[in-house]
Amino acid sequence: MEKNEVYEIKIEDIGNDGEGIGHTDGMAVFVKDAMMGDTARVKIIKVKKSYAYGRLLEIVEPSVFRVKPVCEKARVCGGCTIQHMSYEKQLAYKWNKVKNCLERIGGISNAAGLMEPIIGMGYPFCYRNKMQFPVGIDKDGHAVLGFYAGRTHSLIGLSECAIGHPVNKEIIRVVKEFIDKFHISVYDEKKHRGLLRHVLTRVGFQTGELMVCLVINGDSIQHEDVLYDMLSEAVSVFRTASGVSAEKDELRLGGTESDKGLKIELKSLMININKEKTNKILGSESKLLYGDAYITDYIGDVAFHISPQSFYQVNPSQTKVLYDKALEYANLTGDETVWDMYCGIGTISLFLARKAKQVYGVEIVPQAIEDAKENARLNGIRNAEFFAGKAEEVVPEMYDAGKDGAKADIVVVDPPRKGCDEKLLKTIVAMAPKRMVYVSCDPATLARDLKYLTAHGFEVQKVAVVDQFAHSVHVESVVLLTKAHK
Ligand code: SAH
Repeated sequence: MEKNEVYEIKIEDIGNDGEGIGHTDGMAVFVKDAMMGDTARVKIIKVKKSYAYGRLLEIVEPSVFRVKPVCEKARVCGGCTIQHMSYEKQLAYKWNKVKNCLERIGGISNAAGLMEPIIGMGYPFCYRNKMQFPVGIDKDGHAVLGFYAGRTHSLIGLSECAIGHPVNKEIIRVVKEFIDKFHISVYDEKKHRGLLRHVLTRVGFQTGELMVCLVINGDSIQHEDVLYDMLSEAVSVFRTASGVSAEKDELRLGGTESDKGLKIELKSLMININKEKTNKILGSESKLLYGDAYITDYIGDVAFHISPQSFYQVNPSQTKVLYDKALEYANLTGDETVWDMYCGIGTISLFLARKAKQVYGVEIVPQAIEDAKENARLNGIRNAEFFAGKAEEVVPEMYDAGKDGAKADIVVVDPPRKGCDEKLLKTIVAMAPKRMVYVSCDPATLARDLKYLTAHGFEVQKVAVVDQFAHSVHVESVVLLTKAHK
């Protein structure tokens, strides 16, 4: 097989990143945008020893799993990678991904028998409560807001995004108008010049509160009062228009059929200052222009204040589903001491606190711990205590010091993609909780950690898979472990 050759290939499988996989000439060929079940004409772009990468030229015979993407620019946009896969197939693919990891990496041979059916979304669009649009200028000199094409830094202009809240369409339109009207300079990342870098929006899906935050390479932006008026006006037009479409049952938000669009209101206009030459979107300082410096949202009946920098789960309706699963698995009676490790702003901790005797949370980002404490106060929750630091340092130290705090009836972990540090797992084994609930955003590291835990006296009881990120390949799972009966 040589580079630039063209083959007709039957696509037989789906890879880890959603790409199609076929075989020809004794080689596996990975083809982005090709779908399991397609017969496709593929141009070989890179050849390795036993596999190759190909580019999809033409679909000769489309797969039954293929659907027309909702977004025109789905193929180039780096946001959704599998919008061209039917939602049912996406769910089956994600469930299988978890099962394969548990079997192959975790050595759990009866994984399928332990796994509950995947919990998908009722309506897998308009679900994200946070969007970050990079700003640029097109070749005609007009402002564009959009997304970076997959794995690149070329900006694709968009007028709306199918997985974000529908109000974003109005915000994109208004900000572009504002830039053109006042000739606001736009950031050029190569030259590190220009003012406006990104537009961040956050919506409280339960409250309808909207935050717009302009990320700038400077300390202030001119005509902010005009921008505020333009945004307020657009939001009120949106509210009226969505009232009409809600009657027609067209406005639906992720997971639910709701009229939440009706309530949307501009609560906060902010700037975030980022003068660094960096890929990081936000700088450390934010300034309030109008309204409050935060919006409020609820998960279940727990309220959260969300500022531009706060970490907050992006799919609120499925987050509730996920936490309900964690709560179900924790099976609290009110007498338990619970540890929530990798607790972020205390979302799971506070969700569990009402049903537990005492909750302890640990998290590496000090600001998140400040937010967690503030959120506990906001909700009048007094039985939650939070510690800033690395879980693999704080917990073992407390355990070794023999403090009461390192005792646990229930341990919850929700680590980032790289999974738990083995030092932490070792301490959890020593703590010997009755039950452990492992919330994971990466099935491969989950499986690796389960292998350790099952080798050290735990047993996997149940696994739930919850789709938090429709049209992407990411998958979230919750696992219940108990101490094995010997
Ligand atoms: N449970 C929270 C956050 C989960 S995301 C929620 O549901 O919202 C994982 C969190 O782990 C992030 O907040 C990240 O900052 C934190 N983290 C990463 N490495 C860590 C470590 N070594 N110790 C403690 N927390 C860590």
